[in-house]
Amino acid sequence: MPDTAPDITIPRDLLPADGRFGSGPSKVRRSAVEALAGPGGAIIGTSHRHEPVRSVVGRLRAGLSELFHLPDGYEVVLGNGGTTAFWDIATFCLVERHSQHLRFGEFSSKFAAAVQAAPWLDAPDVVESPTGTHPQAEARPGTDLYALTHNETSTGVMMEVRRPEGADADALVAVDATSAAAGLRVDPAAFDVYYFAPQKSLASDGGLWVALMSPAALARVDKLKASGRFVPAFLDLSSAVDNSRLDQTYNTPALVTLLLAVDQLEWALSNGGMGFTCGRCDRSAEIIYGWAEQAPYASPFVAKPDERSHTVATIDFADEVDAATVAKVLRANGVVDTEPYRRLGRNQLRVAMYPAIEPEDIRALTASIDYVVSALS
Ligand SMILES: *Cc1c(COP(=O)(O)O)cnc(C)c1O
Repeated sequence: MPDTAPDITIPRDLLPADGRFGSGPSKVRRSAVEALAGPGGAIIGTSHRHEPVRSVVGRLRAGLSELFHLPDGYEVVLGNGGTTAFWDIATFCLVERHSQHLRFGEFSSKFAAAVQAAPWLDAPDVVESPTGTHPQAEARPGTDLYALTHNETSTGVMMEVRRPEGADADALVAVDATSAAAGLRVDPAAFDVYYFAPQKSLASDGGLWVALMSPAALARVDKLKASGRFVPAFLDLSSAVDNSRLDQTYNTPALVTLLLAVDQLEWALSNGGMGFTCGRCDRSAEIIYGWAEQAPYASPFVAKPDERSHTVATIDFADEVDAATVAKVLRANGVVDTEPYRRLGRNQLRVAMYPAIEPEDIRALTASIDYVVSALS
């Protein structure tokens, strides 16, 4: 198959104002990028052990506490390495012996794989469900950590964050929120660790992990530290906690990522916080799923409406329309990263609807897709 797109020019007035719809990395607001050349530019290239950079870390921690209404005793902890590093950190510093993982896509399977490979832990329970749905946690005695994923980025399935009923009193609930943070509503009382990398729903760049941690999670870290379990220094969550309390990181942080994340957070807070950001995602979801349900050639991949993600939409196409060709034409017109998750292998498009993305641009995208499909047929 030739890799070139059919020569179709989408009229300018149909195109979205910003053509970035990638599910990760994702759109960063232009004003956040511009601030890097202004106020941010004065800080880049200075020591992370001194005041201007430490105050950026402090603003990130304070901004997240405020946005998520974290109760007293919860702390914002951060370090280098993205969500993938945090899975290894959790394997060393949060799972005591036995964990349960809800596996319903590429990302939710990876933490389970990390625990499976750890010889100091029991083999984990893995609860699965068919692609395009999510399983429910099953409370079992002796399970000390339940691993949930708020939004499975590979399939566009979201799930409500809830403590499993009947779980042991000291069991932790750890939630991967990489493509959910600040875009989907969550009650901090329902989690012990809500962790994410900021290049998706938080509209920043990659390289960092952030974890919102409850007192019970902080106590687990202390308990495992005191147990004498070997932990590589880079993956030591207790040293990340200590450094975060000083508005620092264990080693040199991705400062540009911090600056972009703080810009996005302060934009969210100054516009009203979670009601504002989640409201934008709700609006985008209403537009794209409403369109897909009435388009003769498209339909939402996720069958149950309340499991359809409000931050990442997956849209199946009828056999007579090749979604890959549509994505290529969109790309040639400056509308990028709508390709489906590679390993899902479906005739579909995947569209991010994170808070930074304008709902009206989602509407313009649907009009652009309609235009391309009619030009192809
Ligand atoms: C992208 C993604 C990850 C991986 O994030 P990295 O920062 O690349 O390690 C993990 N979990 C979810 C849900 C994701 O969407």
